[in-house]
Amino acid sequence: MRLSFNSDSQRKHLPPVPADYHSHTPLCRHAEGTAQAYVDAALRAGVSEFGISDHAPQIPEPFDDWRMLERELPEYFAWIERARAHADGRLAIRAGLECDWLPGCEPWINQLSARHEWDYLIGSIHYLPDEVLGIWDFDNPKWLGRWAAQDVERLWTNYWNAYAAMATSGLFDILGHPDLVKKFGFFPTGDLERFYEPVIDAVAASGCVIELNTAGWHKPCAQCYPAPRFLQLACSAGIPLVLSSDAHAPDQVGRDFAQAISVARAAGYRETVLFDKHQRRAEKLPEN
Ligand SMILES: [Zn+2]
Ligand SMILES: [Zn+2]
Repeated sequence: MRLSFNSDSQRKHLPPVPADYHSHTPLCRHAEGTAQAYVDAALRAGVSEFGISDHAPQIPEPFDDWRMLERELPEYFAWIERARAHADGRLAIRAGLECDWLPGCEPWINQLSARHEWDYLIGSIHYLPDEVLGIWDFDNPKWLGRWAAQDVERLWTNYWNAYAAMATSGLFDILGHPDLVKKFGFFPTGDLERFYEPVIDAVAASGCVIELNTAGWHKPCAQCYPAPRFLQLACSAGIPLVLSSDAHAPDQVGRDFAQAISVARAAGYRETVLFDKHQRRAEKLPEN
């Protein structure tokens, strides 16, 4: 369900909607819309803050065809400035990046971190090291055939090992779409808690925040990231939460947040986190 408002006076009578901290820009070559259109959509959705977190540059360049280049960073900063100018005090606009966790990426992430006054960095895993396949972008639809032919247990094991290492690195404020590995609906047999438990321990020890990413509802797996059981275990372990749409177009900002609030509350969450230059504060999760 999407929340929409006809006027500011109506908005005052409706519960606040948490911040949406995961959105993209056309610089990544697979998103659309203008900075102004994203801000207008965020205002319509009623989110408390709006964060921009496009796919970070990755060396060596060209690394792939779905991210900005390092030389495009100034254009990215200009996009964030245009969003802030258009919001004009009506909505806090936060500056972030969605960085890829790759073997040996630490010096590069540290360099990126120093390039701007970021409010937060998101760490995500879109590439997996694999003993058979090498490093591959497992969530790219071009690999659907490969997924069908591989040992899913091995791929899941590699994914969660990498996720725990990413958490432990301490490089990121937020960890993105925790169980993205399920995107195409390939699940190992048996109880998935054997994958969840060690990684939840690692994330809890790291102090990182995780996101409840609503984009998964629109993918073949048809589930939010992470699954409700993962979220329940994460809440019990004291891991903080943000909600995110992972919008690649303006009309996706704040998408399915009413449903996400229900899922988060059912898992035990009563608040989400706001970021300002890596500093956190809590925001009450509305009832719905
Ligand atoms: Zn993307
Ligand atoms: Zn992502």
